[in-house]
Parts: sequence; structure tokens; C-alpha cells
Amino acid sequence: MMKYIDLHIHSTVSDGSFTPTQIVERAARYELSAIAITDHDAVAAIDEAMPVAQKLGIEYIPGIEISTAWCEGRMHILGYFIDHHSPAIRALLDKLQQSRRDRIYQICRRLEELGYPVDPEEVFEIAGGASSVGRPHIAIAMERHGYVPNLQAAFDRYLAYGKPAYVPRWAPTPQEAIDTIHKSGGLASIAHCAVTEGCMENLDKIIAMGIDAIEVYYPFHKPHQEQLLKKIAEDHNLAITGGSDCHGIVRGEPLLGIFKVPYRVLESLKEKYASIKKQEVQI
Ligand SMILES: [Zn+2]
Ligand SMILES: [Zn+2]
Repeated sequence: MMKYIDLHIHSTVSDGSFTPTQIVERAARYELSAIAITDHDAVAAIDEAMPVAQKLGIEYIPGIEISTAWCEGRMHILGYFIDHHSPAIRALLDKLQQSRRDRIYQICRRLEELGYPVDPEEVFEIAGGASSVGRPHIAIAMERHGYVPNLQAAFDRYLAYGKPAYVPRWAPTPQEAIDTIHKSGGLASIAHCAVTEGCMENLDKIIAMGIDAIEVYYPFHKPHQEQLLKKIAEDHNLAITGGSDCHGIVRGEPLLGIFKVPYRVLESLKEKYASIKKQEVQI
């Protein structure tokens, strides 16, 4: 029997709609052999999902998806086999959390200038201690104050990219993300490269930064793009990864268990992992 895996999944810890436990249970129902939950800039799913996976006989790879600043946009770097309690990961996540809070103050200052004062403390209260305090919580405050008829209007008129109260969020560079993953004992893979702006034409640069793998199997990669990425990975002696990028029911039909990746992909990743560990021992 063919074995299948999914190495790119989002839970309620970031912007997915399934809890970590629900993800593992669904993976079991669809007979996946191995999974990695890769939440955006967050690792809290790991401690919940790992014991459930163990109980249900699913191999679990601790993962993360880090958003990095790239060409005016974002590039996503996946991390696998990370030690999610390592000081390197903790330092990066703490810095991201602090930058989210700083951004709330900056946006509130802009809103005040525009004549719509919102107290940052109120925004933090709405977020209820959530580590991912952000623009949706400001939108709720704006609606409460009667500045906008609904949350969407808060974004459309003030908070969205290019609007008067928009403030960009700090993100690490791809190099910082790759280094952090390495310092946490993990492997870094470049996510959905064929559908990320400015990625394919700069792949050489990212490979030079020390990336270990390329995400080849992805729902929105066309067959010819898959082939090309696979060839590039082979030429540079990189492993390949793949996954559904399932966000639960947020984006229509959940792809978890529907979009499947052959198990041998995980084997290639493990070989890469073993060869790096071996080199480290020799050094
Ligand atoms: Zn992504
Ligand atoms: Zn993703």
C-alpha cells in the first residue's frame, strides 16, 4: 500500500480553522502516515498534536512556517525537525510578538491623527492576551466606537495595505529565518516558490543562503513548475517537501487528506537531515 504524508498544514494556533488535535484526527481518518503542522510564526500546536499523533500511530514532524520580508512582499520559509523550545526559535518568536505590539501603537497613533482615536490598551484587551494581536482587533475597537459600520469597512478604509492607517509589520529576512531554523536543529525549505512573487527568479540567491529543501508538491503548483523545482532541487543536492497548506474550512473544501504527498518525500528529507547531523558530528 502506498503511504502518504502532508508536511504543510495550519491550525487554530495561526490562521487555520482546525485545532491541532482535529488535524491529527483527520489525518488518521484519511490514513496519512506522517504530518507536520506548520503554523505561521508559531509553534504552540506541536505540544498538543505530538502525543495525539503518537496515540493514533502517525509520524509527527515538528514544524513552522516563518514569514520573511522579501521584495516588498513576503517569502515563506518552512522549518522541519525543529526543537521548538530552542533559544533561537524563542528569541525570534518573542521579537515577532513585540513587533506586533509596537505596530498596534503605531497604527493607533495614525488613527488618532486621522480623528479616530483608539486606545492601544483597549486593543490588547480585545485580543485577550493572544500572542497574535493584530489589525482585526483594532477593527473591532473601531466598530465599537462607531467609526465604521463593520470590520471589513475598517480594513477597506483605513487598515488595509495602502490605506491611511496602514503600517507594515516587521519580519525577519529569509537569511535570518534559515539561520534560526538551523540553530534550532531543523531543516529549512522554501515554501510555494512557484506562486510567490520574485521567488523563481531569485532561487539561486535563496539556495546560497543555505536552504536545505524546496517545496515541490503544492496544490497551486502546475505540473511543469513541479518538474522544474524538482530538477533544481536535484541539481543542487537539496531535499524536496510538499503539503496541502490546508487552513481548515477557511479556504473552501479542506485539502488535508485530499492533497497527498508520497511518503518517499519524507524519506528524502530524513536522508538530508541525517547527512547534516553526520557532518556536524565530524566537525
Ligand atoms: Zn505560505
Ligand atoms: Zn502555509
